[in-house]
Amino acid sequence: MSFKITVQPSGHSFDVQPGQSVLDGALNAGIVLPYSCRNGTCSSCRGKVLEGDYDAGRAPEQLLSQQDRDAGFTLFCQAKPASDMVIESHEIRMASDIQIRKMPSRVAALEKVRDDVMIVRLQMPTSEPFRYYPGQYLEFILKDGSRRSYSMATPPREDNQVELHIRHMPGGVFTDHVFGAGATAMKEREILRVEAPLGSFFLREDSTAPMVFLASGTGFAPIKALIERLRQTGSRREIALYWGGRRPRDLYQSELAEQWAADMPNLRFIPVVSDAQPEDGWTGRTGFVHQAVLQDLPDLSGWQVYACGAPAMVESARRDFVEQAGLDPEAYFADAFTSLADVK
Ligand SMILES: Cc1cc2nc3c(=O)[nH]c(=O)nc-3n(C[C@H](O)[C@H](O)[C@H](O)COP(=O)(O)OP(=O)(O)OC[C@H]3O[C@@H](n4cnc5c(N)ncnc54)[C@H](O)[C@@H]3O)c2cc1C
Repeated sequence: MSFKITVQPSGHSFDVQPGQSVLDGALNAGIVLPYSCRNGTCSSCRGKVLEGDYDAGRAPEQLLSQQDRDAGFTLFCQAKPASDMVIESHEIRMASDIQIRKMPSRVAALEKVRDDVMIVRLQMPTSEPFRYYPGQYLEFILKDGSRRSYSMATPPREDNQVELHIRHMPGGVFTDHVFGAGATAMKEREILRVEAPLGSFFLREDSTAPMVFLASGTGFAPIKALIERLRQTGSRREIALYWGGRRPRDLYQSELAEQWAADMPNLRFIPVVSDAQPEDGWTGRTGFVHQAVLQDLPDLSGWQVYACGAPAMVESARRDFVEQAGLDPEAYFADAFTSLADVK
């Protein structure tokens, strides 16, 4: 027996099958609630339950305190209904027009741009256009059924190829394969099962607000897709691009960002390095990348922020921009690159 979920304030409703999460039921019905990781390790799908019973599932204390739970807040990617429910959440109309599909993909090219960063080009099926909003991500479905998420670094292309930027996490199941040596290494022509497009991290193109793009490490990938999209449309919106890494070499495509800054009068690029060594000869900005934003832009009211990368950076930026710089919490869009190790 399925349960009926009604979303307020829209009044839209959808059915959730037994054992399914509220978020998955909504996505199946083409209703997109805000979400990112789908595994209870970020807080993008946090929302309020107004009526009904549910199993809240797993949610770390730092994302959902006991006080939050008592007030009816939950993570919709984890919450499983035990009755009909009424929930409060906004909906993202823009993403609901693209169907999420499972499909095979083929590795078209592998380019190691740093010791620990691989650019992977994937060929998606050519039977129909592979549609997504720049900023969204795909999930690889591994042989054991587990999944790994990677953001598309390019806007949709006519040849249905996508570019991914994958950072090696030593000991990690999937990235050890991507960077592996010998017979177990990922190779061109390898077939991988994919589900896509996913996530609600994409440009709000109905706005003319100036934008901070904030990336750490391979969090640059979806930001690159957003900027390439803005270049295609000829947008004149003001962009302050901050990209942080521990060492200068972590900013693996800084020449590209510098090129954008040279030929886009509306874009500034500020690279920030947190752990420069004397041999790096670094003379640029230092410290935490989100702190550099606060130093330069102490008043973020009227801005939109698009942040991507390390979960700690994404959460600190959300908190500090809202509390210290007056950013509207609704104007903060983020994908935290959480991994299984973040699941407590
Ligand atoms: C929305 C989203 C988008 C993302 N986009 C990108 C992207 O564009 N580029 C990118 O590089 N990454 C991205 N990620 C992260 C990516 O999905 C993977 O989590 C990451 O690549 C690690 O995968 P893995 O299989 O190699 O590691 P896993 O096997 O998942 O392990 C992760 C790390 O944790 C360690 N570990 C595993 N289990 C434990 C444990 N029990 N205790 C302690 N440590 C443990 C491993 O050694 C490894 O270092 C994204 C994540 C999300 C949620």
